[in-house]
Amino acid sequence: MDRQAESTPHHLLLVEDEVALAALLEQALREDGYAVTVMHDGTEVSEWVRRNDPSLVLLDLILPGKDGLSVCREIRAFSTVPLIMITAKVEEIDRLIGLELGADDYICKPFNPREVVARVRALMRRSFDWRDSPQGTGLSLDEERFEAYWNGEALALTPVEFRLLKALSHRPGRVLSRAQLLNAIYVDHRVVSDRTVDSHIKNLRRKLQSSAAATDPIEAVYGMGYKFVID
Ligand code: CA
Repeated sequence: MDRQAESTPHHLLLVEDEVALAALLEQALREDGYAVTVMHDGTEVSEWVRRNDPSLVLLDLILPGKDGLSVCREIRAFSTVPLIMITAKVEEIDRLIGLELGADDYICKPFNPREVVARVRALMRRSFDWRDSPQGTGLSLDEERFEAYWNGEALALTPVEFRLLKALSHRPGRVLSRAQLLNAIYVDHRVVSDRTVDSHIKNLRRKLQSSAAATDPIEAVYGMGYKFVID
C-alpha cells in the first residue's frame, strides 16, 4: 500500500500519560505518515473513539482517570478498531491476553519508537490493506455514498446491511457477537433482539451469494456470532 497516494492519512489515537514518552512516539508515528491525536488521561478516550472513528488505537495500561483495561472494554463494546495495549510489565502480557480484552497486539515498555511504528504498520496492514485492493477483487465500501462493491459488483444493500458489512469487514477473522453487531448498526438497540441481527445477516449473505462472485465471506460461529473471512 502506498500511503502517500491516499487522500487522507490514517488517523491514530495514542493514549499515554507519560508526556515525554507520548511526544517521542507521536513524532515517530507522524514521521511515518500517520495523523496522530494524543491523550494523557483515560477518561474521555472511548467517547473520543466513538465520535472520531480512528484507524488504530495505542492504549497505555496504567492511566489516570480510567485505566486501560476499562477503556479497552468500553471501546470493544461498540468498535472493532485495531488496538494495541502498552504495558510496563512483561509479566502483565500473559494476563492481558488471558483476559481476552480484544486487544490486537501488546507492546512492552521500555520500547524503541521505531519498533512501535513497525508494529503499528504491521497491524494496519493486517487490518486495512485488503480493502485497498484494486477494483474487481474483494470488498470495497464507499462510506460516503453507502455503496458496497463485492468483487467489483455493486450490492444493493439497506443502510443496516451496509453497517453490518462494514462492522464485520473492518477486521477480517474477528468474531463479533450479536450484541456488538447491534451496537454497530443501531444507535438505540434496546428495542431489537438478537434475532434481528440474524435476519439482517441472512439477507446480507443472500445478496453476497447471488452476486457474480457467488461467494460469501461471512461465517457464522456457533454460540458466538459472526466473522468476516477473506483468503
Ligand atoms: Ca502509564
